[in-house]
Amino acid sequence: MEPPPPQGRSWQVINAALTAAMGPGKDRNRWTLYLCPVHEADGQHHTPSLGVRYDPAQGKTIVRCFAHCDDKEVLSKVNLQVRDMWDRLPERNPNRSQRQPDPRVQQNQSARMSLVDKAIEYAQFPIPEKPNLGEPTGPAENVCTYVYRWPEGVIAGAVTRMRTPHEYGEAKSFWQARWSGTEWEHTGFAPVPFRLPEVLDAVDRGREIYICEGEKDVQRAYQAGLVATCNAMGAGSWTPEHAHYLTGAGRVVVIADRDRPGYRHAAKVAETLHGRVGEVRVLQAAAGKDLSDHLDAGHEIEDLQRVPYLDRHYQQQRGRTETRSR
Ligand SMILES: [Zn+2]
Repeated sequence: MEPPPPQGRSWQVINAALTAAMGPGKDRNRWTLYLCPVHEADGQHHTPSLGVRYDPAQGKTIVRCFAHCDDKEVLSKVNLQVRDMWDRLPERNPNRSQRQPDPRVQQNQSARMSLVDKAIEYAQFPIPEKPNLGEPTGPAENVCTYVYRWPEGVIAGAVTRMRTPHEYGEAKSFWQARWSGTEWEHTGFAPVPFRLPEVLDAVDRGREIYICEGEKDVQRAYQAGLVATCNAMGAGSWTPEHAHYLTGAGRVVVIADRDRPGYRHAAKVAETLHGRVGEVRVLQAAAGKDLSDHLDAGHEIEDLQRVPYLDRHYQQQRGRTETRSR
């Protein structure tokens, strides 16, 4: 028999906390199983559904409730944070409850708003003019359909991109459909990130994840060898529910479109990820407006530039979190 892989600090911390709260775990296959402190803490006899597993390559302990409780919530029940899933993080005080309201949250909200305004001011974006396309010259046509899926791959819904030819160009538009299980309904669907199964796989493997503003850029990112995602219906439609699925990810790069709504959108995405993932970066195209323009101009992924104010802010937040917990 081969010796078991060395297990790091995160493994000790998480198992100790779970054992103290829920009783000893049982080893089964690759997982050590505990009762889930979120949905199995009622004293009834459940079949344990919280799996814990150490990944030596990442120096990370994976925590997964097979009934889909949120990692962050599971860890907070035993006074731990998402950050405790990594070995390299410093000691923290296990007596400090993470469920206490944090006065910094309010400050961060207002700091974020003024930061976005500063970033927008610094970028000197021109006031957008509405282009005069003239009259439509034909019916709207489908350009492509992007399918959104649940974690296991079942279809949740789809976004269809349309174009309508006009005298001086073409107008683009989008519409959503929800998959009921048997038919398409012309309505919005659940807030799942685009290409969710790939995103969850990347979270498990500790791969970097990119968040773009739209599906077209996400597809370009995959062509460039990256893992990427976005929300349906563009800027302003990202929610904490989307961020929930990225909990436990390592490094997440938000690519801001270079315009006002793009910066506001990127700041909102970054804010919802703070505390859920290892590191948040906010970058932008070195040429043009978005990732597609950047790549079309011949730039590499490494050439993406920091968004002034926002990138530094979210990197420093990470630093503060680590200092605070020492
Ligand atoms: Zn659970």
